[in-house]
Parts: sequence; C-alpha cells; structure tokens
Amino acid sequence: MAKDRKIRSDPSINPYRVKPTPSSPQKAFIDFRTRRICPACGRDIKIDHNFCKYCGVDLSGIDPIGKDEISRELATTAVIDPDPEVRKEAVDTLGDFGDNTVLGVLTYVLLNDPDENVRKEAADELGDLHHPFSLEVLAKALKDESALVRKEAIEGLKKIKKKTKEKKLHEGKPESRENDKDKSEKEENLKENNSDIF
Ligand SMILES: [Zn+2]
Repeated sequence: MAKDRKIRSDPSINPYRVKPTPSSPQKAFIDFRTRRICPACGRDIKIDHNFCKYCGVDLSGIDPIGKDEISRELATTAVIDPDPEVRKEAVDTLGDFGDNTVLGVLTYVLLNDPDENVRKEAADELGDLHHPFSLEVLAKALKDESALVRKEAIEGLKKIKKKTKEKKLHEGKPESRENDKDKSEKEENLKENNSDIF
C-alpha cells in the first residue's frame, strides 16, 4: 500500500509548509453547494446523500438547503458571519421560511455557534418548525452552558411534543375514545346500582 503513494512526485505538496493548528478559532466553512447538514445530528455530509452516515436517519424527504441560491447564501451567513446580530437575524429569517430544508443549518447553529443569543434563536426556530428530528438536538441543548439556550430548548421540546401529540390524538379520533370511556364509566355505575338493587 505505502509504496503506491507518490509523495515525492507531487510538486504541489510543500513539505516545509506549516499546517494550521486545529485549535484555530476560525470556524469551519461549510460549502452548501456540495454539503448538507443532517438535521438530526448536526454533522455535515455530502449533498447527494439521502442517509446520514453518522446517525443513520433517512433524509430523502428533506431537500438540502444548497439547492436554492438565496437560502444557501442565508445559511452561509448564519454560519460564518462575524457579527452575532447578523447571524441571529439570518437564523430568524431561515426559520420564517418555514420548510424542512432549513432544519440542518439551524441544528448546526444550535450546536456550534459561540454566541448564546444565536443558539437560543436557533432553538426557538427549531421548536416552531416542530420536526421530530429536532427532538434529539434540543435534548442535547439542555446541556448547553447558557441558561438562555437551555430554557429555549425546553420550550422547543414542549412545542414539538405538543404538536406530535395533537396529531396522534387527531388520528386516533379522540371523540370516540372519550365516548367509549364515558360509556364504560356509565356501565360501571349501572352495575354498581344494579348490585345495590338485587
Ligand atoms: Zn445525522
């Protein structure tokens, strides 16, 4: 294997170049034209992948944000703009778009932004979008160092849980179940009354 490497023949590799230190504070740039962010775990994967190779969720129902130019620019701003106020505004606007394509970048911001107000905004927007993929990341944000973010994560979880509960109740026709319960209670009462009589 090792003898196949052509290290010496490649003139573009400068052996004396100093590598940047990994602890450099500059944030990793994500090119949304070629990458997408998994809305469940917040890691970046290739744009054409329909499954997250890290957490295994199925992303086929969610379009990557990079397909639309305006959303892509906004997502880039939300991640790399040096001003936290600008990042927060970008996160707010992405949330207003209201579709699933923004979930990934909001998840990334919630897990990675150095500013608590920006992370809080991301948690807020994820709660409003109430996608079940966000439950895990919001649960993770409960351990955020900022109380502001932790509080918003609780709110977000509440919003998503409430929404999924409403949906389930609707599907299970709560009216009929409620009636069944009433009926069985009445029957119970009836039996008791009857036993008193006989
Ligand atoms: Zn994932």
